[in-house]
Amino acid sequence: MSMPIHLHSELTSPPLQIECLEDESGLGYLLRWLGTNHLPFRWLKKMLAIRGPRLPDTRDAIVLSYLTGIEHDQLKPMLMKTFGNAKEGGMLVYGQQLLFRDLYRFRSPQICPSCIHQKGYISRCWEFGPIPICIEHGVYLIDHCEHCKKPIRWDRPTIDICQCGRIFSSPVNPSERPGIAELNLARWVLKPLMASESLHSLEASKAPSWMEHLSMDGALRIIKAFGICQTPYEAISSSYPWGKCTSQFWRDLFRRAALRIECFLDPSISSELCTLVYQPFLERVAFYPLTTPDKESALYLLKQLYDYEPLTHFDSAKGHLSQKRLFD
Ligand SMILES: [Zn+2]
Ligand SMILES: [Zn+2]
Repeated sequence: MSMPIHLHSELTSPPLQIECLEDESGLGYLLRWLGTNHLPFRWLKKMLAIRGPRLPDTRDAIVLSYLTGIEHDQLKPMLMKTFGNAKEGGMLVYGQQLLFRDLYRFRSPQICPSCIHQKGYISRCWEFGPIPICIEHGVYLIDHCEHCKKPIRWDRPTIDICQCGRIFSSPVNPSERPGIAELNLARWVLKPLMASESLHSLEASKAPSWMEHLSMDGALRIIKAFGICQTPYEAISSSYPWGKCTSQFWRDLFRRAALRIECFLDPSISSELCTLVYQPFLERVAFYPLTTPDKESALYLLKQLYDYEPLTHFDSAKGHLSQKRLFD
């Protein structure tokens, strides 16, 4: 049972302050800090005057900095900043800009129970829909509680306890584990978010040159292009509900993407890749890239897979979004 809480109209900071870790999730840090102080998530939302389903983001950074004692400059980059739709710049979190906010799993957290129990914090690497993998344990992340079967929420007692009151556990019989191709792909893409110490132990495989310099936005969109189709020549609805996809959905997509990228890297494997990789998504990266390397990689893939060289004269759509404006 948590302590009775008396809400005051003025801001009262909880007594216990904790440090935020190098690769920790922003919301995960807040939940860990609340748990240390035996305060529920709803207390924080009340302090931030947040109503409804909204979660804390950069708009709350000043108050959060005061409450937690963490420097504003350190706290703000850990929270989501929204610019608007893709043309307006999408969003920014952990220094990574994503044009499409659906790539970021903000509302429906997924976890690695082993990490939470062993390391005691929530990793920021778990917040990107297309990569539902814990590299460290070589397992898929879960977004449902094994006990109550309900989706995991941020609004829960502490980082390791579900809103149903039970401690999170890993699936009893993990029927599937990610293979080498999936783990390598996850490492390449998540590299900018990983703690420096785990990076040293992960130098095993080197990313292909077209992938090495991709932004996170470019990499996640290319994974979607490689993995979305289940069958050849599939057409994907433009109103696909990306924001509502489960970890299981992304797991299947990511597995297909990793295996197809592996095929692409090894020309000796004959494959029907051009019928399986979704060309319109690659074209969109070529026409509306976040960065120049993203555009170049998308053009390279279009050429290699379909022998297609689009004219990208109006390529500077995103050029207006200078880094300066986005990061001030
Ligand atoms: Zn783990
Ligand atoms: Zn539960």
